[in-house]
Amino acid sequence: MKIVGGKWSNWSGGVTCKPRKIVAPKDEVDLAAAVRQAEGPVRAPGTGHSFTPLCASDGTLIDLSAFTGLKNLDKEAQVATLAAATPLWQVGPLLHAQGFGLKNMGDIDRQTLGGVVGTGTHGTGRTLKSFSAEIAGFRLLLASGEVIHCTANENPDIFAAGRTSLGMLGVMTEIAMYVRPAYKLR
Ligand SMILES: Cc1cc2nc3c(=O)[nH]c(=O)nc-3n(C[C@H](O)[C@H](O)[C@H](O)COP(=O)(O)OP(=O)(O)OC[C@H]3O[C@@H](n4cnc5c(N)ncnc54)[C@H](O)[C@@H]3O)c2cc1C
Repeated sequence: MKIVGGKWSNWSGGVTCKPRKIVAPKDEVDLAAAVRQAEGPVRAPGTGHSFTPLCASDGTLIDLSAFTGLKNLDKEAQVATLAAATPLWQVGPLLHAQGFGLKNMGDIDRQTLGGVVGTGTHGTGRTLKSFSAEIAGFRLLLASGEVIHCTANENPDIFAAGRTSLGMLGVMTEIAMYVRPAYKLR
């Protein structure tokens, strides 16, 4: 994703837009205010690796680059909670430092966690699941600015739909992923 002179373009440059406003909230409180005040269609891109015009808007574009990092690691349950715009290339080292790793990967690591979950990005292997399938829960900021927590037991319908929602249900701020102890890949 590139933002130059108020113009946004995706990874290939094949999709571009010039939103009325580009906002870069620092935290959830800022993000809620930005969404409530937003004009026109609101889009929250990851790194713009999608080829289709999922993130293009002439309204408001939300730059989530402040939403990165490991928030919590439950070693017993093997669940890592990460800020939703953490790029995959940062997730590996963050988990490895704690003795854990992602279960699967796509062919590149530039995308954000929110983007791969939003699109059902897959990795490889007959028995390994997509990113969306390895989610334990997420925090979702709705159009009203309200934040809800979604798991298989809490808001289960939104949890199921949110796992490949193309950004339509709101903005994910944190995503909890099932992980596994660190391993050597041969
Ligand atoms: C070189 C290359 C290699 C690729 N390899 C693979 C591959 O191996 N396997 C595969 O399945 N796909 C692959 N893709 C596709 C890519 O993984 C997906 O398009 C993925 O969505 C990109 O993530 P992103 O962060 O760039 O998301 P974006 O393209 O920026 O956004 C995708 C969607 O997710 C939404 N979204 C992003 N963040 C959030 C958030 N925090 N909350 C709510 N919604 C959000 C956006 O609004 C948008 O609707 C590849 C693409 C490229 C260009």
